[in-house]
Amino acid sequence: MKIENPNPMPWRFSERAAQMQSSFIREILKITQRPEIISFAGGLPSPATFPVAEMKEAFDQVLTDSGNVALQYGPTDGYLPLRQWIADSLSSNGAKIVPEQVLMTSGSQQALDLLGKVLIDEGSRVLVETPSYLGALQAFSVYRPEFVSVETDDHGLVPSSLDKVAQGARLLYALPNFQNPTGRTLSVERRQQLVETCARLGLPLIEDDPYGALSYKGEPLPKMVAMNPDGVIYMGSFSKVLTPGIRLGYVVAPLPLVRRLELAKQAADLHTSQLTQMVVHRVIKDGFLERHIPQIRHLYGDQCQVMLDAMAEHFPASVKWTKPEGGMFIWVTLPKHVNAMALLDEAIANHVAFVPGAPFYANEPETNTFRLSFVTVPPERIRAGIATLGKLIAAKV
Ligand code: PMP
Repeated sequence: MKIENPNPMPWRFSERAAQMQSSFIREILKITQRPEIISFAGGLPSPATFPVAEMKEAFDQVLTDSGNVALQYGPTDGYLPLRQWIADSLSSNGAKIVPEQVLMTSGSQQALDLLGKVLIDEGSRVLVETPSYLGALQAFSVYRPEFVSVETDDHGLVPSSLDKVAQGARLLYALPNFQNPTGRTLSVERRQQLVETCARLGLPLIEDDPYGALSYKGEPLPKMVAMNPDGVIYMGSFSKVLTPGIRLGYVVAPLPLVRRLELAKQAADLHTSQLTQMVVHRVIKDGFLERHIPQIRHLYGDQCQVMLDAMAEHFPASVKWTKPEGGMFIWVTLPKHVNAMALLDEAIANHVAFVPGAPFYANEPETNTFRLSFVTVPPERIRAGIATLGKLIAAKV
């Protein structure tokens, strides 16, 4: 029998829940999924790169060979052969990492939440780049830190600016490779300086690296975790090199921290899908990524170049933008007086979308900035969309 509520339920949300906000990007994505819109707004990888056949075969093999294990509850820290694979691949990049340091997570987004849970108290100072990844700001802000924006220039985070702001801080969150949202990459010298400075200040450094493998030119730069595995927390993800729908990421941390993260994960979701981890391990264990990643790099690199060429042709000279060497994003800076949010309204009316830059700032936003993604839009639509944007911007500068 259904029981009636005589009064509306007086929901009393926790203070934490009351101040949660929807990610601005997720809101924009609802609008931009309309087929007539040329959307440079998404941060989605290209489905053309998803290894559907390989995943299908691996699901079949795992279920046939080890269905009982794959479909059972599993350990919180993750599937050992996959953790071993991750430890080996980071170690071959110069770090000395053991599988005990690797915690598998449900997307690297979960790693951000767990790190927030174990490292941030209310009012803790948390250092972030200017601008930074919106999803990290959203994950950390649940734990109510005081965000401190670290100075950034055209070459990314400025390590020498840390001394001024790091006093008493709990952590520094950095994205050294093809940063989301700017596409910038931190030079080897700055990586070294940053790791050294953090070590001197006793400041834990989070290296979030979901795009590191997607360099269009040359070899990836050395990872900061390899420079100081005792002071750097590394985050990786299978979202951009395989598929995001499987929700598989990982965090690599010194042992005392990884134990805490594991406790936090136990409480959050017991463990990440054992089936997914076994399938991914089956797909990648014999060198699949070495064949697959170059295809992603080519596709994204070509489309990035199409967008950069179109911007050079259509954008007024007073507009500046980054020239990424990998990853998925270009960052545009308009003249100071032009508001990217107002431009977005006009752009959507003209069937083009992007993400305004303001939500990526933890503190004072630069409202004349926006982010473009080129990965899911075919070249002719990239050219058409950039031409439209160029006209709209030219009318304002
Ligand atoms: N970090 C950064 C910088 C990202 O851009 C993203 C996804 N857009 C994530 C973490 C989270 O990725 P996932 O949870 O899919 O691993």
